[in-house]
Amino acid sequence: MVERILADVRKRGDAAVREYSVKFDKIDVKEPEVPAADREVAVAELDSQTRADTEFAIDNVRRFAEAQLATILPLDIEPLPGLHLGHRVIAIERIGAYVPGGRFPLLSAPIMTIVPAKVAGCREVIACLPPNAHHAMIAGCHLAGADRIFRIGGAQAIAAMAFGTDSIPQVDKIVGPGNAFVNEAKRQVFGPVGIDQLAGPSEIFVLADASGDPRLIATDLLAQAEHDVRTRVGLITTDRSLAERTATEVTRQLETLETAEIAGASWEDYGEIVLCEDEEAMIAYSDHVAAEHLQVHTSDPHALAAKLCNYGSLFIGENASVVYSDKTVGTNHTLPTAGAGHYTGGLWVGSYVKIATHQWLENEAVLKVGPPASRQSASEGLDGHRKAAQVRVDKLRQWSAA
Ligand code: NAD
Repeated sequence: MVERILADVRKRGDAAVREYSVKFDKIDVKEPEVPAADREVAVAELDSQTRADTEFAIDNVRRFAEAQLATILPLDIEPLPGLHLGHRVIAIERIGAYVPGGRFPLLSAPIMTIVPAKVAGCREVIACLPPNAHHAMIAGCHLAGADRIFRIGGAQAIAAMAFGTDSIPQVDKIVGPGNAFVNEAKRQVFGPVGIDQLAGPSEIFVLADASGDPRLIATDLLAQAEHDVRTRVGLITTDRSLAERTATEVTRQLETLETAEIAGASWEDYGEIVLCEDEEAMIAYSDHVAAEHLQVHTSDPHALAAKLCNYGSLFIGENASVVYSDKTVGTNHTLPTAGAGHYTGGLWVGSYVKIATHQWLENEAVLKVGPPASRQSASEGLDGHRKAAQVRVDKLRQWSAA
């Protein structure tokens, strides 16, 4: 299905996108781009508190992204006399931010994908969101700094951004979460176009000892469980009493949680309480899971945190709730799931730049690196390579002999 949508949009462009919007979203979008006036209207329709909260979150995400960008430095070294090696930090030119629909208008979604792109200096950031997405999401895209906003969703939006159509520009990298169709489309277009990651259902694990507070732990587990019936949530602890009290507390809190239907199903099918012999066993299990969100509720959370290696983002101490980072603290909430925390920390300002190397050689460096490159090429049977390596060496030798 997704393969067919991608091929169709690639071939027929805007006409195919429009047809898929009618088919899947039941809306005939004649003009996919949101005009400037409509962006302003969407912002004006936000109530003043929502707008202030959104701007507060944008400021925090921007400040953290700016500080992180400052740590990505250009490099120039001279490892041998006359041999100059380095790299530059270059912003990716055009970013496509997919902003998912969903049951609730999650204003944090456009903030997390668009703000770091603007901080990185990407020339153009376009946002795509399903045509029936809540109006406030257009305001979120606008306030976050999207240069252009399009009302298209699903695999057809990913295809349009990957291949370009008459209305929608082709981008260099696509970022942002979405449903199974969106993720499969991202997987299939990857190659000529970059992607950030493939987002699965959310995950939270809490590492706790006897000092843990079952009420806080249960609240945080359920706060993630309400995202999706497939959310994986768990407590890893050395304390049997805490394990039992947390299980009881989850059951108790589910009785009054408005989203208990989803959160309860997630807890039932994917909830776990892991009782470990000691701290070492807790760390081993946690590093194996590599949870998207990992909270540490122990008597010395900083000491334990320093020993952990695999996670999406780490929440040190009981004050650091995942929900704060989801919304307002400034770290990015687009994090690795399904074990991807073994190799990535998720979306960040560095996802919007490339580190590209360069080199230049003075004559003395050519005489040093040329002969081994020439011999290596010869032994590989690559005569063209050998000649390219040798010709400069020969030229310099003739010149110095003259
Ligand atoms: P979505 O934007 O991901 O997908 C909506 C699109 O799916 C529609 O526009 C439609 O074109 C397409 N579609 C629907 N049914 C289809 C079908 N049968 N065949 C082909 N295409 C079809 O919105 P959603 O579906 O509401 O899902 C939102 C997802 O985003 C959820 O999985 C949610 O967990 C995730 N999400 C993640 C974050 C985050 O930051 N991690 C934030 C918000 C939402």
